[in-house]
Amino acid sequence: MSGTVVNNETLSLPTQHYDCVIIGGGVLGLCCAFYMRQFHPEKSLLLIEQEGIPSELGATFVSPAIVHGLFANPESYKKAKWSKHLLQNLSNITGIDRPHNQAYFPVGYVQFMDEHYDDSTTQEDFLESRSEVEQKNFQALLDLSYCKSVCFDADGGYASAENVAQHFGYAAVREGTDLLLNARATFSSSQSLSIERLSYNKKMQQEVVRQESLSFAQCIVAAGHSSGTVLEGLGELVECPKVYMQYPKIEGDSQLILGADLGTGGKLELPVISYQGFHLRTQADGLLVIPPALAADSIGYQPTEGKLMGVQVGLRREIIDSIMNNLDNFPCFAWESLNLGKAVRQVRGAWQIAYEQPAWQQLKENNHIYLLHGGREAMSLGLATAHELAQSIEIE
Ligand SMILES: Cc1cc2nc3c(=O)[nH]c(=O)nc-3n(C[C@H](O)[C@H](O)[C@H](O)COP(=O)(O)OP(=O)(O)OC[C@H]3O[C@@H](n4cnc5c(N)ncnc54)[C@H](O)[C@@H]3O)c2cc1C
Repeated sequence: MSGTVVNNETLSLPTQHYDCVIIGGGVLGLCCAFYMRQFHPEKSLLLIEQEGIPSELGATFVSPAIVHGLFANPESYKKAKWSKHLLQNLSNITGIDRPHNQAYFPVGYVQFMDEHYDDSTTQEDFLESRSEVEQKNFQALLDLSYCKSVCFDADGGYASAENVAQHFGYAAVREGTDLLLNARATFSSSQSLSIERLSYNKKMQQEVVRQESLSFAQCIVAAGHSSGTVLEGLGELVECPKVYMQYPKIEGDSQLILGADLGTGGKLELPVISYQGFHLRTQADGLLVIPPALAADSIGYQPTEGKLMGVQVGLRREIIDSIMNNLDNFPCFAWESLNLGKAVRQVRGAWQIAYEQPAWQQLKENNHIYLLHGGREAMSLGLATAHELAQSIEIE
């Protein structure tokens, strides 16, 4: 039987006690909910999200969601393979058919490297294997003088994290998950949650319109960068460092050559490019420029724009520095079409958990509570991690 969706304060949940509650309706919370129904169909399950799905407050909403399987560690390699298979067969696996909301774009993933590795090919061999249009685009975008070798993952690419999340959300509800939207959860004890039901007033400000409480046997905190704050309510210190990440965009540029399908709008077709820690990913006729990972921000940091040659731009200083330091490797960083914005809000960005890899953990003192977090490789490894947690969790 389908679960109940409670999306405004006038509606009530069918019960005030659940066997398991998941806090956070980002891609990982929703994926975990879907698999929880499969592994524990007889247990009651509630997912609480403080906004809608997708939520503009989460990392899933802005994620460029790059996916690849180029992991040296065999465990990560296996997880990425599993995740790619899931993404490629998402409609079949979830039973949710959303033909106008493509979830995965397996355009390939190419990593250009300065070192030579055993399983890599030479740059020349790789370029020769690609179309003329792609070769010209690679040459326009990158200076590969120092590139010694290339690894290519033909099944890699990028996802629409938002669409992936919605597939899992619909499927989880269809399989019996109750969904409580516009509701912020905080721990009031190790076995209960205080819920603030939220609504928008005429000035579009969020306000608390109702308060209630719920009890649970097990709880999974999948609240993204807010997980640390949510867990503070338990009095147990769990490290959840966060970092504000942004990515500028190269708007359609005449130096880029569009694919052969000019009749359908001249789409730019390129695999995801990884070089010197940067990723370039197509979006319409332009490219997203995803900078290398930054270290965690200090507590209280607020994203502020930086200055480039005395002019204010919307990128934080560390990202401007990494772009400036890589002008030689990326001739495209000097193009006027690289849109750096004028204020932080004009450049796509969000807070994210400052971990490279997604993971789950059982809390030490409250071992009926679990933390499930993403990280930079959330789409490549996170779905398998959420599946693993749903399979491993024991519900009395
Ligand atoms: C700029 C940027 C680039 C990225 N690039 C990539 C990439 O290329 N590849 C990749 O794999 N990953 C990438 N990531 C990381 C990836 O997007 C995230 O790790 C992933 O989306 C996290 O999903 P999540 O479900 O854990 O968290 P989120 O999407 O953040 O979801 C958490 C949810 O919890 C809700 N919530 C929080 N607190 C509460 C509460 N108290 N009560 C109720 N609800 C609550 C929030 O509203 C939110 O919807 C990137 C992230 C960013 C920001």
